[in-house]
Amino acid sequence: MASWYRGNIHTHSNAGGPRIGYPNGDPAADSDPFTVTRWYRTHGYDFLVLTDHNHRTLLEYAAGQRRFRKPLMIPGEEVSLRVHNGTKAVHLGAIGISRLVEPIDAVDVVPTLQANVDAIIEAGGIAAINHPNFSWAFDHVEISQVRGAHLLEIYNGHPQVNVYGAGGKPSYEEIWDKVLSSGLPIWGVATDDSHQFKGEFSPARINPGRGWVMVRADGLDQDSIMDGLQSGQFYASTGVTLPELEQGPEGIKLRIAEDGDFMYTTRFVGKDGVTLKVVFGLEAEYQPRGDEGYFRATVTCTNGGSAWTQPVFLS
Ligand SMILES: [Zn+2]
Ligand SMILES: [Zn+2]
Repeated sequence: MASWYRGNIHTHSNAGGPRIGYPNGDPAADSDPFTVTRWYRTHGYDFLVLTDHNHRTLLEYAAGQRRFRKPLMIPGEEVSLRVHNGTKAVHLGAIGISRLVEPIDAVDVVPTLQANVDAIIEAGGIAAINHPNFSWAFDHVEISQVRGAHLLEIYNGHPQVNVYGAGGKPSYEEIWDKVLSSGLPIWGVATDDSHQFKGEFSPARINPGRGWVMVRADGLDQDSIMDGLQSGQFYASTGVTLPELEQGPEGIKLRIAEDGDFMYTTRFVGKDGVTLKVVFGLEAEYQPRGDEGYFRATVTCTNGGSAWTQPVFLS
């Protein structure tokens, strides 16, 4: 019997290298891996991937440093480098790697993305293309040319990575639809990219708890969660919960968890980001005509939260 498991696949601790571009040795995050993991445990997460910059941060179970079953820790890393004289940041999530992946500089953005995706897969991991608009490094044009990455950030909680579209630049969600419309299937993930666990929590700080994935899996173990991420058996969320979600070539059917007096809109989206159907309320359903290219759902809530289901491609 499959269950839903909540996890974050992008967060930092002070165990990684210095902040990229800050050679004074400042660690990326303000807390050690145990403090970071405790935050996620006490906030109900089932699994967590510590993704320090160019560092595979592991908790030592054998040494008795860890007493809790949750969150399940899946080894990870954020493979990070800058190309074009340090102006363009290329960061990739490496989920479930069995060894460290050293970043590869292949000069231009597309070959650099590709070389690092290949290296992540070779190390047994799933590759995620992180925060495309960060430092305006790349968008759908580059992403559509990369093969083998299973995941793309469609939301990232870091306040400096340009998640929303403005000034003539596309939002992450628009970038995702452009990539999908090019014919490349890639699953959308929401992540925290958290760095700050101490002091005040505010929108301008890099705090945890903002974006996560809900994976449908047979059990809470690394293989099951990895399978779910790889096969798109999950949805991304920034606050909306979908206790029921059925989707396949015959359609999408979902139910939204009620929360106070908040109201919900489900927008079914097809190729080129077109709106196929809009539904208000706690239940929504879409049956394809057959010429949509792909279809998916974005649920938005009056409290600002969203959920995104994965696309279903029609041949
Ligand atoms: Zn990053
Ligand atoms: Zn990061």
